[in-house]
This record gives sequence, C-alpha cells and structure tokens, in this order.
Amino acid sequence: MKRVRSPRPELEHLTPYEAKDVRADVVLSANESPHNLPGEILDKLADRVRHDIAFNRYPDPLATRLRAMIAEANGLEPANVLIGNGGDEIIMDLVLAWGGPGRTLLDMPPTFAMYGIDARMTGTAVLEVPRRPDFTVDEEAVLTAVAEADPDIIVIANPNNPTGTMAPETLLIDVLEATDAIVLVDEAYFEFSRQTMRPHMERHPHLVVLRTFSKAFSLAGLRAGYLLAHEDVIAELTKVRQPYSVNRFTQVAAGLAFRERVVFEAGVREAMRNRDTLLHGLGAMTGVEVFPSEANFVLFRVDHASAVWRDLLHDHSVLIRDVSRTPGLEDCLRVTVGSEEEIARFLAAMDEIMASKRAAAHFGMNAVAARHSGKDGE
Ligand code: PMP
Repeated sequence: MKRVRSPRPELEHLTPYEAKDVRADVVLSANESPHNLPGEILDKLADRVRHDIAFNRYPDPLATRLRAMIAEANGLEPANVLIGNGGDEIIMDLVLAWGGPGRTLLDMPPTFAMYGIDARMTGTAVLEVPRRPDFTVDEEAVLTAVAEADPDIIVIANPNNPTGTMAPETLLIDVLEATDAIVLVDEAYFEFSRQTMRPHMERHPHLVVLRTFSKAFSLAGLRAGYLLAHEDVIAELTKVRQPYSVNRFTQVAAGLAFRERVVFEAGVREAMRNRDTLLHGLGAMTGVEVFPSEANFVLFRVDHASAVWRDLLHDHSVLIRDVSRTPGLEDCLRVTVGSEEEIARFLAAMDEIMASKRAAAHFGMNAVAARHSGKDGE
C-alpha cells in the first residue's frame, strides 16, 4: 500500500494550536514568566536530580506528594486534586470524560482555543455564546443557552485569555445554580487576578477549578497544572487520563516550587507593576485601544494589527501574539507582561511604529502599503 487511510473526519477542519517556532530577542507571546526558576530552587532541584530521582522508574501516576501539598494549601483532601501535564491535559481529560458524541461543550469566545479544539477532536458539539464587544460575558445569553441546550460542560476562563477580562462571581454563581453540568472555571491566571471560585466548591460539586504552574510559577517548560474538584469528578477523570503523564522530574520541580511559593510573590507583584506600565504606555498612544486586564498579558487594538505585529518582530525583534484573525478580535494583538526591560523595549518599538504610521498618513499614504512596498513612508 502506498497511501495512508484518512484520519477521523473531525480532523479535517482543525488547525494545530500554534505550530510556529519564531525566534526573537524579546518574547512576549505565550504569557510565560519572564524569569526562570529562582537560583535557590534550581540548586535544590539539582540536588534532587543527583540524589533521589530514579529516572529509570515510572512516575507516581497521581503525584501523591504534590497532590497532598496542593490539597492542604487549598483546604481540601488529596482526593479533590488532580495533577496534569499542564492545564491543557486536564482540559482534555474533562472533555474525554464529560464530552464525546452527542454531548455539548459551551464556551464564551473569544477565549482560550483549546476548549473548542479538544471538543471538536472528541466529537463534542461546541456551543459558543460570544462575549459582548467589551469582552464581558453575556450572562443572559449564557443562561438562555444553558436552559435551552443543556450543555454537559461549561467553560469559563477567569481571567479570560486573550482578553484579560474577569467574570463577576455573581454571574458564575448564577450559572452554577442553573445546571448540574461540569462548570470549569479556568483560573490559569489566578495568581495575578487574586480571585478564585474555590470557596464555592462545597456548595457546588459540579464546579471544577483549574490552575497551572506555567505562569506565576515559571514552569511552562515542565508542564504541570492541577484541578480542584469534587472527589467523584476526580475519580471519573482518573479513568480517562494518561497514567504517567506527569514525569518524576516535573513532580519534584513543581513540589519544590509549590513549597517555596512565597518566593514567587515578588514576581507576581513585579508583573502587576509592569502590567500598569504597559496599560498606561499603550493607553497613551494615539491609535491604540487597550483593554483592562487582570492577568499577566494585555490585549490591544490597532489598525493593521498584523502589519504592526510583523514590524515588531522584523524591525525590533519583539514577538507578541497576533490574535487578529480570531472572530471578535479583529485588529487585536496580545502582549505578555514581561520584565521591566522587555516592556520598555516593546513600548519603544510600538512608539516608533505608531510614529511611522502617523508620518505615512500625513503624507497621504497607507502606512502599511508604504512599508511593504519598500518605500519610505516618511
Ligand atoms: N487555560 C488558559 C486560559 C491558558 O491561557 C492556558 C495557557 N495558555 C492554559 C489553560 C494551559 O496552560 P498549561 O497547559 O501550560 O498549564
């Protein structure tokens, strides 16, 4: 046989989640921490690698020690915690367990793409209740959709990626009261928003809260996330999950980071300061509309966004995220809150790009056309 049989038809219209490998001096595209693990944690990790990580042995499937630590910190039992290979794996586990053919996931776009991708991959119907133009959740539309379509999974990123918007607690409670579906509140950016739905878990066993080590804990490269949920929900997830998805090294590193979590507080405070700098800096630029954010990234709108993105990368070696092709995010770009130097470099680059746009406009030229036809717009 000289051909390969077609995969499942659902894959035909799926595009992989960002397959690009773009290099730049300043990387502000993936909402990572600008800092590697602090030296004291790296030293401890090196020591553990040398003395007690048996790389030849399979990992503990449920990451018992890390699980117990996270449970205790959240006033829960270990049975209420699931560790995953990043939050991404846990989202997939939830869709595998509560989705599938004949079932429905409700999300509120524009939002994190993986909810819809995982749903489509598993033959789960996706019901989209678009956010309002200011990116707040349309509560009435969500409650109507819940009543009419009775979805099996409802997902809300809080704060939402890529808009940075928070949904009010009262809205989430209304949704929880309206259904027994799994309500996933994705708190990947919880350390920056400092707001959580955790206190509502006792009253609402269908509320599940997702967190990650990828942002505030500087561990995006190791892949660790966790879910807080009712023990019956966790028990179902253990049926579908990959048993060895969280490797030994990651379990140890995440454990060290979590135990020493106070040391990351400085990074969170730094991110909040730099977020203000970013919001003010972008807000002061003519032609830029910036949206408020409770996370470690900022969304803004600018004419010819894709050209601005290209100029940032090609002329200034600054990589941010172009989300302008996403419905509802026309002309929008997302920039991660980096270090002070990175933010300064990004803002200076933006200033220059906006100035050249203005100069081109002054001479009656389309700045983008001017730049990309090789002419000097000034
Ligand atoms: N949820 C949201 C809203 C996110 O933005 C991300 C990261 N981009 C994740 C979940 C998954 O993060 P990770 O898999 O790195 O834990």
